Amino acid sequence: MTVIPRTHPRYRSLRVRADLAEKMREGLVAPEGLMAHGRGEAFDYLLGERTSPEARAAIRAAAARILLARRPVFSVNGNVAALAARDVARLVARYPRLRVEVNLFHRTPQRARDVAQVLQRAGLREILGIRPTARLRGLPSDRGWVDARGILRADLVVVPLEDGDRAEALRAAGKCVISIDLNPLSRTSRTADLPIVDELTRALRLLARDLKELSGEPKERLRALASAVQGEDLRSRSLERIRKRLRTLAREEPRARPGPAG
Ligand code: ATP
Repeated sequence: MTVIPRTHPRYRSLRVRADLAEKMREGLVAPEGLMAHGRGEAFDYLLGERTSPEARAAIRAAAARILLARRPVFSVNGNVAALAARDVARLVARYPRLRVEVNLFHRTPQRARDVAQVLQRAGLREILGIRPTARLRGLPSDRGWVDARGILRADLVVVPLEDGDRAEALRAAGKCVISIDLNPLSRTSRTADLPIVDELTRALRLLARDLKELSGEPKERLRALASAVQGEDLRSRSLERIRKRLRTLAREEPRARPGPAG
């Protein structure tokens, strides 16, 4: 186990990395998952490592859409299980109609069982997708497997840290796609009906809170909240935020001094 001093200014980030590396060695996280995490971290730096107002609005709209959906499903891969199993369990505790499906890009039967076990330990009772029986059109090889009781018949799918091809296949199958992805430029964010550009664990805690607050609200109000934001606008506001932040930082950074040779 890597020892990280609590006083380190980036303690949390290093702790998460060490945990993910450990879970990669155990087989829960795919090696490619570590690279996806690194890409996410880079965008979190650019976004200021906090939930932006546009991400906050997207999360509220996502809660409203989930409450309005007939068969909402939350998709879980190795990274999501490693980073946020308890947060996923909390979501389901707040809203038990939300079903959870193991959905792996790099699928092996063992990894699917491992992901399910982590979710079970976090308190989830029903987990779909451990032995998927159906296929999603347009996705070759193992990436197309889904559960006939879950994603196949879902009208809404929440896809955190998803790959663009699958997000596109879900859209093409007529499902409402809500992504959680720190990269506003990814194909997933560009494809989703509702892109939440925020860090997974921050977003899930707010989503659980909103699901609790909004459950019991009249459908009219939920519909108004659900349509209060537009995917394209959310993405461009995130990009604009990064642009402004970089400009401000560039002004603040002390200019590099010329060396002795000039
Ligand atoms: P696409 O195929 O959609 O263009 P991609 O090639 O980046 O995207 P993946 O490699 O599967 O797809 O990456 C998953 C995405 O998850 C990355 O874009 C990364 O920004 C994002 N990501 C990684 N870790 C987190 C996290 N903790 N919270 C939110 N997003 C994350």
